[in-house]
Order: sequence, then C-alpha cells, then structure tokens
Amino acid sequence: MSDTPTKKSDYLIEHEDYTHWEINSGDTSVYARRIPGRFRNIKWTMMAILLIPFFVLPYFTWNGRQAIYFDIPGRKFYLFDITIWPQDLLILALLMLFAFILLFSMTAIAGRIFCGTMCPQTMWTDLMTLTERWAEGSARQRMKLDAMPWNAEKIRKKAFKHLMWITICTVTSVTFLGYFSGIDNAWSKLFTLDYNVYEWVSFWFVFFLFYINTGFVREQICNWVCPYARIQAVMTDKDTITTTYDYHRGEPRGRVKKGQDNSDKGDCVDCNMCVSVCPTGVDIRVGSQIGCINCGLCIDACDDIMTKVGREKGLIRFMSYHELENNLKAGKRFLRPRPMIYMLATAITFTGIMYSLFFKTDLDMNVNHERSPTYTVMSDRTIQNMYHIIILNKTEVASDFTLKVTGIDGITTNYDNKLLKLTSGQAKKIDLLVKVPQKNLSGNRQPITLTVESVGKPKLSKSYESMFFGPGN
Ligand code: SF4
Ligand code: SF4
Repeated sequence: MSDTPTKKSDYLIEHEDYTHWEINSGDTSVYARRIPGRFRNIKWTMMAILLIPFFVLPYFTWNGRQAIYFDIPGRKFYLFDITIWPQDLLILALLMLFAFILLFSMTAIAGRIFCGTMCPQTMWTDLMTLTERWAEGSARQRMKLDAMPWNAEKIRKKAFKHLMWITICTVTSVTFLGYFSGIDNAWSKLFTLDYNVYEWVSFWFVFFLFYINTGFVREQICNWVCPYARIQAVMTDKDTITTTYDYHRGEPRGRVKKGQDNSDKGDCVDCNMCVSVCPTGVDIRVGSQIGCINCGLCIDACDDIMTKVGREKGLIRFMSYHELENNLKAGKRFLRPRPMIYMLATAITFTGIMYSLFFKTDLDMNVNHERSPTYTVMSDRTIQNMYHIIILNKTEVASDFTLKVTGIDGITTNYDNKLLKLTSGQAKKIDLLVKVPQKNLSGNRQPITLTVESVGKPKLSKSYESMFFGPGN
C-alpha cells in the first residue's frame, strides 16, 4: 500500500524540503467541523483544568479576604496565605521567567503544543465556536446560513449567537476585573453601572479583546498577530515533534472505489476531513505550516477515516522531521541539548520560585553604611558610625519593633530603649548612630549584627551583618 520510503523523495523535492508556508490570509472564513476523538478530549480536559480555576478562584476566600487578589492601590498581591509586596518583585520576575522558559521547553519538544491546547485565544475561540454551533448548527449549516440573504431565521440565529458571545465575554471581563477590584464588587458595580474610569476601561478592553479576537478574527490572530508564532522557528529543530502527514504512506493520494484495484495509491483517500476540521484552515498534507497550532484535531479526523477504510491509524501523527525523513518510528524527543537546557532552566527557575515563596520573610531590612565620613571620633573618646536603614513591615498588622546592635562590648545606639511603630506595609527610613568606646575596638573594622525584632513576636525578626569602622590601634 505504501510507497517504498526514500530519504529524499519526489514529494520532498516538490515541496521544498517539506516546508511550505501556506496560510489562510483571512479572505475566506474557516468553518471547522467538530468531531470526537483523542485530541478533542485532550482539548476539553485542558480547558477544564485551566478555565474552571480562572472563573471559580475569585470566589474563594482566605483569612476573611479574596484568596487571589491583586490589590493595585495597596500595591500587594494576595495568593492564599502569601502576600507579595512590591519588594518581592523578584518572585513575580521569576514567575514570568519560568512561564517563558516552560513555553520554550514545550516548543522545543512539541512545537506549538501550547497554542493548540493551552493558549487563551484558542480556548476562548473553542468556547465561541461551540456556542456558534449551538446557535447556527454544523459547519455546513453555518456556511449556508452565512450565504443566505437576511431573513427572520438568520436574524434569530445570529442574535442568539451574539447573546451567548456577549454573555461569555461579560463573564470573562467581570472575572478578570474581580481579580483586581474584588469579585463581589465587580459584579455589583456592573449592575449599578458604578465602575470608576479605570474599571470601565479594563472592562471594555477585555470584553472587546475576547469578543473581536475569538469571535471574529480567530485563527488570523495565530497567523498574523501572535509574536510567539513568529519566534517559534528559533526554538524548534528537526527533532521537534509536530503534527505531520506521513507522505511515505499517504502518497499518491486518491479516492478508493470498491471493486477497483487501488494498489497504486497511497493510504490517503483524499477525503479532505483533515482540512475540514482544522480550526486554522490548514491542509497539513502540504507540509509544516505557520498556521498549524498543533492541536491534533486533524489526527482525530484522519484516524477516524483510516478506521472506516480499514487502514492503520496514524497517517497524520505527531512526529519529527527526522522521523519523517528517515521513516523512523521514534526519535530523540527529550534527550537533545536544546530541550535538556530548557528543562534544566525551567527546573532551576521553579526551585528559585519555591525557595523565594517558602523562605519569604514578613520583615525586610536594608542597611547602608555612611561612607562620608566612615567614622567620627567623638570628644568622649568613643567612635561613632552612621547607618541608613529602611525597615519594612510586610505583615497584615501594625507592630512595635526594637532595633538592637551587638558584636562589640559597650556598643550603644540612638535607638536603644526606643520602639519603632510600623503599620502594615509601612517602610520606615532611619539614621542609626552606633557608638563604641575606642578602647574596646581591636582593629580598624569589626563585624556587628543589627537585629530588628517585633515586640511580643520574636519570630518576626530580621538580622543584618555589617561592619563597624574605627581608626585602629
Ligand atoms: S493542521 Fe491539524 S494540528 Fe494543525 S491546526 Fe490544523 S487541525 Fe490542528
Ligand atoms: S483525513 Fe487522512 S485520508 Fe482524509 S484527506 Fe486527510 S490525510 Fe487524507
């Protein structure tokens, strides 16, 4: 049935090294069919894993407040028990870095797998096309509806569809706003039309972003707008697995007829099902294309056809260029330098995030030694050093703090017996004067320890190692 595999077949020569950039330029609408299958189930599962938490999490409370809450005016982010302050931006930077490197790893291993299964654009487009199907019917019925002149039926179906789209986009927009201004607040203010200007701008921005992008523009965003599509080529290589048509098996394609000798034909029966289910309008048989988001829906479609015509599944499958070119069953998918470096970087960043989160202190202290002058010899034969200190209370309550300096006999400060009052989130800048009798100094520099500690909560403390400078012996 299949052609004898060749390393450089006519098919490859004809299709320029199996890379032919064919793209739906937007002048035709894509009416993708929906069929059940493995990859459709994966898509539903990923949508459930990612979308349900997005819509549900704002309703969770923790310690009397919204569990996940980005308090922009208060300049802090709440993640359940963890409060992230602007001073903890390293954690947010690490989170962003982690997300990028994870994306690079996924791309190096499996191409645009993120686009096909996890990208918000794809998931919301799936929601919009699902409701479109409820309102207007199958792909064929939608095509006919769009072609027919406006009448009562068309108006009714289109109105129903847009009503569902408006509902999805409104819930999305309010949920998004809920993360920043409180979900109860976001809903109640919507019904009383009481949003402030920032809230209205955010609401309409998110609403139209999803309404236009996922309702109308759809695959054109993936083809033309998304920067990730542009740069993915530098993250992939010939061992990256992508949705691929096995031309060795499939060509020469042709329709099979009962009672006829079909032995001169490949396994592709030219049914066009793989094209008709593709959400981006790609014909994967032409070769790897920028419009392919690696969703695998054409694999489901082709497997279904292969089962029906009694041939082996997998004419379209996930495989690398090397597997295809050499007609191999499997290649080095993970044990290659590129994905290994990306995975190592992902693991390191993830460890950094975990460390930063679990060893995050609720008290911060920044110490700068005054250098001009480094020390002053006082008239009472003591040496004085000045330290500029910033103390930040990152707890949710106001507290009194003591500031002690130890390390040299007879050490005293202008904050001995004083209490520092810090409200929640308050940063206090102080000039600390530290004095030591000259006779107690054993060199021109000696280590000291500065410790700030909450009164009544000794666990809430922070220490800083510094140096005390003097004239020497
Ligand atoms: S060609 Fe296949 S994998 Fe690529 S976007 Fe279309 S259906 Fe998805
Ligand atoms: S679904 Fe399979 S058999 Fe049908 S046209 Fe596509 S590749 Fe050929």
